[in-house]
Amino acid sequence: MNRKKENYILPDQKLAARRSGKQADIERDMFHLGEDAAMLGQGKKYYIRTYGCQANVRDGETMAGMMELMGYTRTEIPEEGDVLIFNTCAVRAAAEERVLGEIGSLKPWKNAHKGKIIALCGCMAQEEAIVRRVLDSYRQVDLIFGTHNIHRLPDLLHRVSTSGERVVEVLSEEGKIIEDLPVKRTSSCKGYVNIMYGCNKFCTYCIVPYTRGRERSRQQEDIIREIAELKNEGAKEVILLGQNVNAYGKDLKIEDGFTKLLEAAAETGIERIRFYTSHPRDYSITTIEAMRKYPNIMPSLHLPVQSGNDEILRRMARGYSAGSYRKLVDEMKERIPDITFTTDLIVGFPGETDEQFRDTLDLVDYCRFDMAYSFVYSPREGTPAAKMEDSIPLEVKKERLQILNQKLSGHASANNAKYLGQRLKVLCEGRSKKNENMYAGYSEHNKLVNFSGPEGLEGEIVEVEITAVHSFSLDGKAVANPV
Ligand code: SF4
Repeated sequence: MNRKKENYILPDQKLAARRSGKQADIERDMFHLGEDAAMLGQGKKYYIRTYGCQANVRDGETMAGMMELMGYTRTEIPEEGDVLIFNTCAVRAAAEERVLGEIGSLKPWKNAHKGKIIALCGCMAQEEAIVRRVLDSYRQVDLIFGTHNIHRLPDLLHRVSTSGERVVEVLSEEGKIIEDLPVKRTSSCKGYVNIMYGCNKFCTYCIVPYTRGRERSRQQEDIIREIAELKNEGAKEVILLGQNVNAYGKDLKIEDGFTKLLEAAAETGIERIRFYTSHPRDYSITTIEAMRKYPNIMPSLHLPVQSGNDEILRRMARGYSAGSYRKLVDEMKERIPDITFTTDLIVGFPGETDEQFRDTLDLVDYCRFDMAYSFVYSPREGTPAAKMEDSIPLEVKKERLQILNQKLSGHASANNAKYLGQRLKVLCEGRSKKNENMYAGYSEHNKLVNFSGPEGLEGEIVEVEITAVHSFSLDGKAVANPV
């Protein structure tokens, strides 16, 4: 059998690579297309499947931009693609197994189409155990690259295509931020804008600091320029992205950097600004004041709490107590009375007792969240929590999740009731997934609204009268176009 040669840079080889000057090469050629690479995609198609958070969505947009610069056109049908890119998430084990299942199912297709390329990237590619597993058991994967070298996609693809080698390039340390990569946005009415990369918090359950590296902030002027460009291109909304946006600028030694950035973003005059994800520990009162001062900073906040019990929060290394979280929510509600809150919650952290779980339910009752991403704890190899003793049976954890979700759904319904009969400004993002004859979009308070209206509302901010409310969405009809 004619086995492909393999060409790897694995995380543990990174320092050696740096010493040998390979890293300097990688950084120097950041994004260049020789003539060959620029012709690589002529007449060919690419498919990108993105999993996980908005940071991954934004990475997917960059990769799409690079693919199209190489001449590839996009397809939404995997089997039609000449290059299939799996842009993965490592936050939960179940999601990883799903990705591997999907890649596994492509084996017969790949065997029948030898020239096609399957690539694995994103956070899973930063996990050495996953890389080794894919190399050993998923030979249909031709290319593996990590979160720190997305800009290398054209060169890596060129190498796979021209040499027939299996290529792995995963850097364990983040390099400098690379600006001006091409981008193919998934939406013309709203744009994701990275403000920083990585995280320094090291919550004990979380793999992100290991897969995305330490905090690195983009320069404020680069961010503001990107927002202004989006506005000029017709976008109505920007979403500022970072694992912990409140830490923006700390590495650049900018005091209160996130608030300053938020204010500068608001001054661009873009109609809507949102930001994800906030950390309760770093939240500054000045940020709340900026939200109050600028009407184009939307009055909704995603503020992950994870647990309502102080001992669990301590073992998660979250750096705040349930009491200080409640106080923060109170302060925000006092300043912005109509603010809406969403959160993240983990059920069944190692050793969580019934009583500790009840503390989470109490906090949920207190904060009355509009929505929450709630999950049973998923151990991630290499994190401190994965080594903690855990005697709670899975059935108990699942039962707790059910109880929690019922509570969350009840609060969400009650919160939404007040919108019945109101007129809300909704950014129309396109056709509704629920009903093709309706539109879908988000209100200022980040409520999903499905609504009817005349043709041509896509991309506009529309006034919608709410005619029905549900736990996690609202129904309505357009009464004015556009606002
Ligand atoms: S703040 Fe904690 S949970 Fe969020 S990305 Fe950083 S380590 Fe993970």
